[in-house]
Amino acid sequence: MSKFVYFFGKDVTDGKASMRDLLGGKGAGLAEMANLGIPVPPGFTITTEVCVLYLEGKKYSEEVLKQVEEAIDKLETLNNKKLGDTEDPLLVSVRSGARVSMPGMMDTVLNLGLTDKSVLGLANKVNDERFAYDCYRRFISMFGDVVLGIDFEKFESLIEDKKKELKVESDTDLDAKALKDLAERFKGVIKLEKGFEFPQDPKVQLQMAIDAVFDSWNNPRAITYRKLNEIDDSWGTAVNVQTMVYGNRGNTSGTGVAFTRNPSTGERKFFGEYLINAQGEDVVAGIRTPDFIDTLGNKIPEAYNQLVDICKKLEAHFKDMQDIEFTIQEGKLYMLQTRTGKRTAAAAVKLATDMVAEGLIDKETAVTRVKAEHIDLLLHPRIDPNAKLEVVAKGLPASPGAAVGKVVFTAEAAEEMAEKGEKTILVRTETSPEDIGGMAAAQGVITVRGGMTSHAAVVGRGMGKPCVVGCGDISIDTKSGLFMVNGHTVKEHDYVTIDGSTGSVIIGKVELIDAEINEDLKKILQWADEIRTLGVRTNADNPADAGLARELGAEGIGLCRTEHMFFGEERIPAVREMIMAEDEKSRRKALKKLLPMQKEDFLGIFRSMEGLPVTIRLLDPPLHEFLPDKEELDAKLRELEASGDSSGKINEVKKVIQRVVSLKEINPMLGHRGCRLGITYPEIYDMQVRAIMEAACELTNEGMKITPEIMIPLVGLVKELAITREEVCKMAEKVMAEKGVKIDYKVGTMIELPRAAIVADQIAQEADFFSFGTNDLTQTTFGFSRDDVSKFVPIYQKAGIIEHDPFAVLDQEGVGEIMKIGISKGRSVKPDLKMGICGEHGGEPRSIHFAYDIGLNYVSCSPYRVPIARLVAAQSTIDSRK
Ligand code: ADP
Ligand code: MG
Ligand code: MG
Repeated sequence: MSKFVYFFGKDVTDGKASMRDLLGGKGAGLAEMANLGIPVPPGFTITTEVCVLYLEGKKYSEEVLKQVEEAIDKLETLNNKKLGDTEDPLLVSVRSGARVSMPGMMDTVLNLGLTDKSVLGLANKVNDERFAYDCYRRFISMFGDVVLGIDFEKFESLIEDKKKELKVESDTDLDAKALKDLAERFKGVIKLEKGFEFPQDPKVQLQMAIDAVFDSWNNPRAITYRKLNEIDDSWGTAVNVQTMVYGNRGNTSGTGVAFTRNPSTGERKFFGEYLINAQGEDVVAGIRTPDFIDTLGNKIPEAYNQLVDICKKLEAHFKDMQDIEFTIQEGKLYMLQTRTGKRTAAAAVKLATDMVAEGLIDKETAVTRVKAEHIDLLLHPRIDPNAKLEVVAKGLPASPGAAVGKVVFTAEAAEEMAEKGEKTILVRTETSPEDIGGMAAAQGVITVRGGMTSHAAVVGRGMGKPCVVGCGDISIDTKSGLFMVNGHTVKEHDYVTIDGSTGSVIIGKVELIDAEINEDLKKILQWADEIRTLGVRTNADNPADAGLARELGAEGIGLCRTEHMFFGEERIPAVREMIMAEDEKSRRKALKKLLPMQKEDFLGIFRSMEGLPVTIRLLDPPLHEFLPDKEELDAKLRELEASGDSSGKINEVKKVIQRVVSLKEINPMLGHRGCRLGITYPEIYDMQVRAIMEAACELTNEGMKITPEIMIPLVGLVKELAITREEVCKMAEKVMAEKGVKIDYKVGTMIELPRAAIVADQIAQEADFFSFGTNDLTQTTFGFSRDDVSKFVPIYQKAGIIEHDPFAVLDQEGVGEIMKIGISKGRSVKPDLKMGICGEHGGEPRSIHFAYDIGLNYVSCSPYRVPIARLVAAQSTIDSRK
């Protein structure tokens, strides 16, 4: 026979903490406290299983009804009181409680069991008529509101009228007569609204309240909350029926809520609020201003000391900060709830390290107590959580952190303002590599178009620059120097604030709080390093980022993109000369000018990563990206022609236009790029390999240990890799011979096309390592252009076609499956082949877990995400042991 009802109370408890799925969080917590000998008013929990069964057919089995009936009998015997008794009635509360605490579920009903008759009994018994009618009017209004769905305002306004009528300020000034009169009027409201009398049979009251709790599982608020928090719809809620205790019995009574430690800072100090002579939700409802918990010691010292002891006991038992609720009735303390307390990011870190120091938890547990989101928040300046904000638009939360600055519309303006020491937010339709300087100079970036891996997003994350992208509600009017957003006009140099963690755009200046890696967070990350087996590298393409990432714990570079090295004022002319070159010879000549600059870059990067592997990807993007825009050129041509220029510039511009036209591709992402470029123009890769190897040789000569890993992009056919590899090795050997140095270099490939994964056994023959480029792999697997997804992915998500943006969270089912093929085929040829992931997914928690599960050796992510990856990698190891 199934057990549907679990009792709790001193010496009669059936449940325990581990039965949370069945009893709900509240029921399990009450049972566990009773087991620990902590004073809890007795009661019983009807299981979540009953909820599920009830919701199917809106009725209960005989067995359930029988067990509830027995539990009521038992509760009556235990209290030596009966429901509805006219001399000394038993009153109960009816409380909902799902597995996880869930706003949106039914509110608690207090003082159930009062009727026109039993209220007299209560008044007589305690010799306090005012108290009895205070309970009664509370009960009728709560029942009306929570169980019958009558707007609480209807009751509230009657209280207000009464207070006016009697010329008093506070509820506590209402006397017995007034409260009695209110109870009568409240019953009138119910009759009027519902067409039936307020039930005068406590068993009927109880059954209606229980039904209402179960029904509330499916109310719209609860459904929405579950959807947002990925909570299973099939769990159901439990119902707790508990003997009432009264905090409203005078000055030695009261009620409060508290945390065993400060949930905001983590400080080990009792934290909470209480109200004397109050009941239930008065504290949170803001009816009166509650007092700080410390002062309770002066008012009801015995109960306070007992409360402090209980908190210690609870922490020692649950080994975590607890969020508790209590009531004191005439000096006697009762605990009504305990659960793991919610905490801020800062508190999570402090609590975890403190508790290790106190011997309460071990390091492994501490590492699981800090969440990836916590680190994300801690690493970026953020908006004061207490600030009141008016969010005017939302885009994609592309790069976390908050930023405040004056609006500018061009990269140059951002740079100019920065020189003057002004803070800016760069607002662009979208950004391109030419905007990098402006992005670096600005505090943050907003783009109108683009997805989570758009240029602005990737660069923003790389720089640790807050970024909101794809904010389609904004329309920029550059001519008038303003943008419009949902009815607001924002002019150039007006202040805006953005929150890259939520995608919010706010007009005006919002106060920010600073970020830092404090000693506690350092400890957590060190412990994570001791636990994890998955390596963590960074994506960095300049010495500053590499150095930063190393400080944040990166164990090498997993992706050094070389295309950014082709930008910059002194380089662009040589790059353009190379692209404009008519033949190989002139191309080599232009490349020669670039060689020393590239070498300089590699020297810097190698230095900051000394002793650690550095994976360098040879040039990947199509060449036209380095030429000016066609429209820009056309405009220039018109200008020159109008001015009657005779310096020959016209012809020059025409030539560039011709080249732009000839390089133009319909689908550049699928066009002449990656190793295709290297094969058609081998001299480009030759120059890059020379620069890499010369830098490596020189530093080796200085006594450093340098480990270059040269990576070929966009390989789909084994011969592409074979040919490129041969070329790379020839050049590498040549440079080493010239310099008289031997270097342990590797040549590997990106796996970023489905074909590459599928023929990975062939490709592995030619590769020293694999790196999964999950951005392109997602793009080519889905056939989604990553720069255009913001047009339809949000709609897909709303329609439930896909859950996440696949460029933000790796698609395990599709892209992940292709990766698995690549891994197993690759390792079938070379069992020890080193493999990593270097897409943006390398810093996303779910994707990191996945990378661990499928047996990758490392993940590589932007510098600011390195600490998150370290933490999550350790959590993966811990999970896999369970
Ligand atoms: P929530 O889940 O919204 O916190 P609870 O079921 O914990 O709702 O109830 C809210 C408040 O009602 C409690 O904090 C407590 O003050 C009061 N309460 C609930 N049950 C009782 C009871 N049996 N006796 C006295 N007060 C109670
Ligand atoms: Mg509660
Ligand atoms: Mg790629």
